[in-house]
Amino acid sequence: MMAQYLEIKAQNPGALLFYRMGDFYEMFFDDAVAAAAALDIALTKRGLHLGEPIPMCGVPVHSAEGYLLTLIRKGFRVAIAEQLEDPAEAKKRGSKAVVRRDVVRLVTPGTLTEDSLLEARRHNFLAAYAEVRDQAALAWADISTGEFRVMPSSLTRLSPDLARIAPRELLLSEAREREIAPLLDNLAVTPLSRGSFDSTNAERRLCDLFHVASLDAFGTFDRAEISAMGALVDYLHLTQRGRMPLLRPPVKEPLGGTMQIDTATRRNLELTQALSGGREGSLLAAIDRTVTAGGARLLERRLSSPSLDLRTIHARQAALDFLLESPSLRDQLRESLRRVPDIDRALSRLALDRDGPRDMAAIRAGLEQAGRIATLLTDAPPLLAEAAQALVGHDALVDLLTRALVAEPPLLTRDGGFIAPGFDPELDDTRALRDEGRSVIARMQADYIEATGIQSLKIKHNNVLGYFIETTTTHEDRMRAMPELFIHRQTTAGQVRFTTLALSDLETRILNSANHALDIEKRHYSALKAEILDASAPIARAARALAEIDLAAAFADLSAEEGWCRPEVDDSRAFQITAGRHPVVERSLRRDGQPFVANDCQLTDKDTPAIWLLTGPNMAGKSTFLRQNALIALLAQAGSHVPAASARIGLVSQLFSRVGASDDLARGRSTFMVEMVETAAILNQADDRALVILDEIGRGTATYDGLSIAWATLEHLHEVNRCRALFATHYHEMTALAGKLPGVKNATVTVKEWEGEVIFLHEVREGAADRSYGVQVARLAGLPQSVIERAKVVLEALEKGEREGGKQATLIDDLPLFRAAPPPPPPQKQKVSAVEERLKDIHPDELTPMDALKLIYELKSLV
Ligand code: ADP
Repeated sequence: MMAQYLEIKAQNPGALLFYRMGDFYEMFFDDAVAAAAALDIALTKRGLHLGEPIPMCGVPVHSAEGYLLTLIRKGFRVAIAEQLEDPAEAKKRGSKAVVRRDVVRLVTPGTLTEDSLLEARRHNFLAAYAEVRDQAALAWADISTGEFRVMPSSLTRLSPDLARIAPRELLLSEAREREIAPLLDNLAVTPLSRGSFDSTNAERRLCDLFHVASLDAFGTFDRAEISAMGALVDYLHLTQRGRMPLLRPPVKEPLGGTMQIDTATRRNLELTQALSGGREGSLLAAIDRTVTAGGARLLERRLSSPSLDLRTIHARQAALDFLLESPSLRDQLRESLRRVPDIDRALSRLALDRDGPRDMAAIRAGLEQAGRIATLLTDAPPLLAEAAQALVGHDALVDLLTRALVAEPPLLTRDGGFIAPGFDPELDDTRALRDEGRSVIARMQADYIEATGIQSLKIKHNNVLGYFIETTTTHEDRMRAMPELFIHRQTTAGQVRFTTLALSDLETRILNSANHALDIEKRHYSALKAEILDASAPIARAARALAEIDLAAAFADLSAEEGWCRPEVDDSRAFQITAGRHPVVERSLRRDGQPFVANDCQLTDKDTPAIWLLTGPNMAGKSTFLRQNALIALLAQAGSHVPAASARIGLVSQLFSRVGASDDLARGRSTFMVEMVETAAILNQADDRALVILDEIGRGTATYDGLSIAWATLEHLHEVNRCRALFATHYHEMTALAGKLPGVKNATVTVKEWEGEVIFLHEVREGAADRSYGVQVARLAGLPQSVIERAKVVLEALEKGEREGGKQATLIDDLPLFRAAPPPPPPQKQKVSAVEERLKDIHPDELTPMDALKLIYELKSLV
C-alpha cells in the first residue's frame, strides 16, 4: 500500500494527497505533518518507512469538505485519491492485492464546485495570463457557473484587470512566474509548463472542448487570447481528471468597454469589500437587494465593471424604470425569483459528475419559475423582453423532471428514493416487492387457496427452501392434480411442500428487489442527467436571464425604498449632482438614528476642466463627500439609480481615487510611498474623461513638502490631465490657487463653533474654510484636557507669529515652557455650597453602607 501511496504522491507534486482508506482520507509523511498543523487535528504514527515511524493523520470522508475548505483557504492544493474498486474485487486478485486507487480530482482555490466550499453570492474565478510575442491576454472562467471570458491585457494592465475580476487563482507560464507573481498581491499563483500555453495546442484543445472546427464561431481571438484560454482549459483537464466542466463559449470583452478602476481605487472606495476585509460595510453589501445567488453574482460583476457604453446603460435603465413603475409586477417577480435555486452551480455539478438528486430538483424548480416569470413580462422593454425569451421552452424538461423526481429528493443517489412513484411501472412493482414483500405473498397465497379450494394452504419461508407452499398430506392428491402449477419439493411427517414458477420467481425478485429498485432509479437518473446536459446551453441562458431580471428588480426596489433618482448619463463632460448622498455612510447613520446631510456637486460640463478644492476640518465630511460622488458615477454606469435628487453624468471612462492613508507594510512601503505611487499612477494615466478623487495628498510628510506636492499635483490635474476632480486638503494655503487657475473652485464643508465646541454641519458650500479646528476635534477624540489647553496656547502663539511675520524657530523658543502637571483649577467663580464642599472629598467606593447612611444624615443637616 505504501508503494502505491508513494507512486501516486510522486505523480502529484505540490499538492497534499488525501488517500482514501475506507471511511477516511489519510495523509502520510510531510503531508500529515502540514495538514495536522493546519487543521489542528491529531498527528499519529503508523508502521515504519526506511526504519522511521510514518507520521499520519486523517479526516472522515463524510466531513471532508470542511477540512478541504480550511486547507484551500490556507493556501494548500489537495489531490484526492479515491478507491477505484470494491475491496472485495481486489481480494479476488489475491489476498495481498491492494485496492486500486488514483487521483480523481485536484482541488485548488480556482476550481471549486461544492456549495459548501463556495460563497453562493460570489463568483469563484480562475484566471490565466498569457503572453505571445508582444501581445498579452487574460482569460478567466468560473467553473461553478460556466462563465468564460477573455480580453487583451498587458503587464501594466494586469494588476487593475485582476482587481476587477478578482480571481481566486491565476495561472502563469512557469517561465514568467518569477517575474510576474511579485507584482500581484494576495493571489494564489499556479505556474504551468510552457506547453500548456502553446497557442497551437490551445486552439485544438478549445475546438475539441466546444465541438467546433474553428474558434471563429465565437469571434476573432489573437494568439495571446487563445493561449490564455487554452492554458485555462488545460488546467481544468488536469485538475478535473478528464471530466470537463460546462464552460460556455468564450466571450471576448472589448478593451475599454468598462470603466477603468485600479486596485487602489477599488480598495479605497470599498466597492465589493470593506477595508476591514469583509463584505459588510462595502457598497455591494449596502445595495444588494437581489434574491437569487445568480443575481447577487451579476451585481458583483456589474459593480466591478461599470459600462462605458451608453446604449447598454440606457437599456439597463429602461428595464429598471419599467419595474420601478410597477411595484406589483416587481413583487410578483421577486416572489417567484425567491424560489429560484442556484441553477448555474447545479448544472455545473451535473456536468462534473459531482451532483446529487437535489441538483436536478434545483433545475426543475428554477425552470418552473422561469416559465412563470416569462408570462409576467409581457410588454417589457427590450432587455427584459429578451431575457423573457430565454425563459420559455423548458416545459418538456420541467414536465419530465416533475414526473420523474419526488418533490423533496435526498442529497445522494446512494440510497435511492428520488425517482417518483408512477414514473416507471417496473420500478413501482420492484419497490412494491421490496416494501410489501409479505403482502404480495399473502395475495399469492389467497390466489392459490382459491385455485385449489384448500383453505389450510400456506406460503411459508425457511432458510433451506426459501419460500414454499405447504399443505397437510391429506390434500396432497389435489395438489398433485395440478402439476403444471405446483412442483413438489419435500414431504415431511404430515406435510407436503410445493413451489411454483411464479413463487420462485417472486422470491428471487423479492431478494433482489432492493438492489434492483436502486439500479432502476440510477438508470433513470443517468437518462435524466443526459436530458439536462443536452439542454445545458438553453438552461444556462435561462439562468443568466433570471439573474438579469433579478438584478433589474433589485435595483428598482433599492431605488424605490431609498428614494434614489434616475441619473441622466450622456457623452458630455458634465458632473452635476444635486443632493447626493453616500449610500453606505447614510445607512450606518440611519442605524444610529442620525440624518445624512445631502450635498450638491457641480463640476462644469464646458470644455474647461472642473476641479473642486475642498477644505474643512477633519471629521467634517470631506472624504465622505469625495467618495459619494465617485460612487454615484459608478452606480450610474452600472445601470443603477443613484442616491441623489438629480444627477447628470457625462460618461466617466476612468475612476481614480487616492483616499486616506494606509500602510502597505506587507510590501515594505511606507504610507507616504504608497500615497506617492498611487498619485503617480493617477497623474500618468488620467485623461479628460476621468473622474479623480484625491484626499489629503501629502499628509504623510513634512508640512512644506506635503504642501508643495499637493500644489503641484493640483496644477498637473488642471493643466495636463484636464479631468474632473475633487481635491480635499487641509492645506489652507492652497485655496489661493482657485484665484489663479480658472478651472478650480473652492468649496468647504461647514462647521459651527459654539461655546468653544465645534459642531459639524456636513454641508458643502462654495468658499474656503476659515480655520482647521484641529484642537477642537482633538478634544472630541478625548485627548487629555491639559494637552488641549497647551495646544491652544501653542496655536495662538504660532498664529500670532505668522501674522507678525516671525520665524517659526524663534516663535517656538519664545513659548512658555510646557507644564507637565495639569494646570491649577480655575478660580472658583461661583460660591460653593456647604453640601458641595463636603461632597468633594467623598469617595463612594470607600464608604461602608453605615458610613453612607451617616453621611446622608450629615448632609441633610447642612441644608
Ligand atoms: P473628513 O474626511 O472631513 O475627516 P469624513 O468624511 O471621514 O470626514 O466624515 C466623518 C464623519 O462625519 C463620518 O464618519 C460620518 O459619520 C459623518 N458625516 C460625513 N458626511 C456626512 C453627511 N453628509 N451627513 C451626515 N454625516 C456625515
